Amino acid sequence: MPTPAARHTDYNRNRRDPVLLELYGTSRWKRFRSRIRAERILCERCSTRERPVVGVEVHHKIDPRVNMELAFEETNVELLCKSCHSSETAKNATRRGQ
Ligand SMILES: [Zn+2]
Repeated sequence: MPTPAARHTDYNRNRRDPVLLELYGTSRWKRFRSRIRAERILCERCSTRERPVVGVEVHHKIDPRVNMELAFEETNVELLCKSCHSSETAKNATRRGQ
């Protein structure tokens, strides 16, 4: 029978991996993320010159759980708006066998 602490961990794993929670809590990540936002400003997927969309989420192309060395690599991140980011995370959640 799982302890309350173990149940809590399982619950978090379904929402966000502990590895990611730890990464996103570091000041290094917060500095990196604000720099990417400040440098790129716009969503890299859907923003156009006619219809600019501000990017808010810094998305990893290669998941840090796959390769933590790429977590702070500028070429491995995309600045996305809320809408592009949620479609990206939905896709990842349903992707299998990777
Ligand atoms: Zn977008």
